[in-house]
Amino acid sequence: MAVPLHYRSVEWLSERLGAGELTAKELMEALLERTKKLEGGLHAFIGYDGEEAIRQAEESDGRRRAGKSLGPLDGIPVAIKDLISVRGWPLSCGSRIMEGYVSPYDAEVIVRLRAAGAILWGRTNLDEFAMGSSTETSAFGPTANPWDRRLVPGGSSGGSACTVAAGLTPLALGTDTGGSVRQPAALCGIVGLKPTYGRVSRYGVSAYASSLDQVGPFGRSVRDVALLLGAIAGRDRRDSTSVPLAVPDYVAPLDRKRPWTIGISEKFFAAGLDGEVESAVRRAVDFYESAGSPVHSVSFPNLDICIGDYYVIATAEAFSNLSRFDGVRFGRRAAGARDMGELYAHSRGEGFGAEVKRRILLGAFVLSGGYHDAYYGRAQRVRTLIRRTFDEIFQKVDFLITPTAPTVAFPIGDKRRKDPLAMYLSDIYTVPVNLAGLPAISLPCGFSATGLPIGVQLIGKPYEESDLLAAAHFFERSHDFCDRHPDCD
Ligand code: GLN
Repeated sequence: MAVPLHYRSVEWLSERLGAGELTAKELMEALLERTKKLEGGLHAFIGYDGEEAIRQAEESDGRRRAGKSLGPLDGIPVAIKDLISVRGWPLSCGSRIMEGYVSPYDAEVIVRLRAAGAILWGRTNLDEFAMGSSTETSAFGPTANPWDRRLVPGGSSGGSACTVAAGLTPLALGTDTGGSVRQPAALCGIVGLKPTYGRVSRYGVSAYASSLDQVGPFGRSVRDVALLLGAIAGRDRRDSTSVPLAVPDYVAPLDRKRPWTIGISEKFFAAGLDGEVESAVRRAVDFYESAGSPVHSVSFPNLDICIGDYYVIATAEAFSNLSRFDGVRFGRRAAGARDMGELYAHSRGEGFGAEVKRRILLGAFVLSGGYHDAYYGRAQRVRTLIRRTFDEIFQKVDFLITPTAPTVAFPIGDKRRKDPLAMYLSDIYTVPVNLAGLPAISLPCGFSATGLPIGVQLIGKPYEESDLLAAAHFFERSHDFCDRHPDCD
């Protein structure tokens, strides 16, 4: 059966666009129609403007007709996590506190997407200020998983992952502070990449935990993700943490075949890991080994402390970053306050949801006088140890292979995860990567007996996204997991 237009790869689409066999307008109209049909059941978007998207598509068609195509992404829609500023668009961050706020400027990643001719297509749903693993903490209500609407899509970039998996867009941007691109990619059966810290500018991206945040691409194939990474990566003078390294062509070397040396640590396969996820990931390891890539067992003694370490650092930074939302400078302002103190307290009290408040309180606590060194100071030292563990591992191997998440998608409102700690524990395999600032990719590696997608994570050396993508592509090419789509129509 022919692949329907909405599940076509970017490569296929841009070839047709280039040959004049398809227009960007036809593509955008088809995706808009599909979105109108499915969005009621999925709630992947916080908002979208179909007419504006079609206008952008017409501009792209005009460029192509004039022989002035801006490249392979010209006319390709990209959905945007609603934490990334797009000039003239409302920016909600999934929060009530941003009510009425409209972005006065473009984030650097948006500047680059415009320069590549991409269509900026809708504001996707997310956990409030990207705090969560299920997209349930959004002030706008949860997003459904397209494989089973009773389940979460993962989070915090669950809206972006859902749009790509459901065929509402070929590409989307998310952000990943502790797993928010990789985990929803795994739970929705698509590919998601967290670039090395510093690879992509964070300018214009609402900060959650600045030393951990990175913008990352979602796609239905490794090649599509490579293409989007190439468009957004690179030094930006407005983000001093972005690195002045040349951005390689991520697509051309994808077919590079070489044996990689692969590391696996039994720590990542310990208690708490679902049996079906474990077997699928072990099969992926076996695949590499039988394809000529030696697999070495490596030691990761500090995995157990990564979650605690992450939640001390992330909440401390969130406490500081979120202090700017005070009812004066951004968005919602509480009515009837008698003085400034009340204005701040009421605006924040009404504007932030429970999970954000919990993290602000935690962050205030770990930074407070008398506790600062016991928590925050120690967490920073532990972070150095984690980085060293990875350094040692990468002396011996090119990648570490792990599960992306301990389970497949879980039910919306799952009681077992009402306990915030239970939800935090589900980030165990993704947060070490952010703590060490490394690149990592999640790609589909199997399905559960109930038909839910499973993701495998490859973690690589700093700035070696290219190698990571090639290794992921090598796996993808020999399996059909990326060709399966949810039956969500
Ligand atoms: N689930 C993690 C958290 O809640 C990661 C979120 C993210 O990467 N934005 O902090």
